[in-house]
Amino acid sequence: MDLSNENIIHVKKNGYEYLQFKKLLEYPELWHAFVIKPLNFRGNKAEKTIAEDYERFCELESLNYKYVVRALQEHTDVVKTVEEKKNPNGPEILMEYLNDVDGLITDKNDFILATTSADCIALLIYDPVKKVVANVHSGWKGTFKKISLKAIEKMKADYNSNPEDIIVCICPSIRECHFEVKTDVESECRRIFEYTNKLDEIIKYKGIENDEEKFYIDTVLITKLLLEEAGIKAENIIDSGICTLCKKELLHTRRGDGEKFGLNAAFIKVK
Ligand SMILES: [Zn+2]
Repeated sequence: MDLSNENIIHVKKNGYEYLQFKKLLEYPELWHAFVIKPLNFRGNKAEKTIAEDYERFCELESLNYKYVVRALQEHTDVVKTVEEKKNPNGPEILMEYLNDVDGLITDKNDFILATTSADCIALLIYDPVKKVVANVHSGWKGTFKKISLKAIEKMKADYNSNPEDIIVCICPSIRECHFEVKTDVESECRRIFEYTNKLDEIIKYKGIENDEEKFYIDTVLITKLLLEEAGIKAENIIDSGICTLCKKELLHTRRGDGEKFGLNAAFIKVK
């Protein structure tokens, strides 16, 4: 199976595969990848074996894994800039300063910004004028906290980025077709995003199952609306259009794979 489409190319190498956005490939100074099955970046946080997954991938791609930066990703709306290396002996993974952080921004060429996901949205962001990259993890909780909008605001504040220059790529995630919620999440969504006047498109009623009302929520649409609110041009929002659960043979998906789910990883760096 091949996931290539108008926005995506599906790269298959010796035993591993990743997706790339055609739009980002227009910039030769940039490197990026959304790595899918069979590689798995979940590791074991408790046993601190998580870095091994990154080391293996970096070896395959001839990257310096000591410069991988990955936030802990606790479904916050916190975005941090990465300015200097703090771990002299290894990658910037499971570092205390990256606890309670879900988005990373840098203008330093060395760093490889990483996020992992298995249904949540990962956003790969590039400002080709200021040569600033960002990588943002936005699950439904982060989406409701508007982390995508806050990441763009931080690029404006800290790197003087003009949102009109910025390109945002939406990696594969669980989509409206499969992101089913109950009334608690649906009502929270309704309260937060009523101001968009797009609730009819964001929320779809599924019906009653086991005496409970069920809904589908389109977190990708919410993200697009937040990005436009932040000043990103519609034509610079590039959507992979891929649902992790619909393509579960190729993509890690928490809802599709159950407790033993693995993690896809999104990487971006300026060469
Ligand atoms: Zn789906």
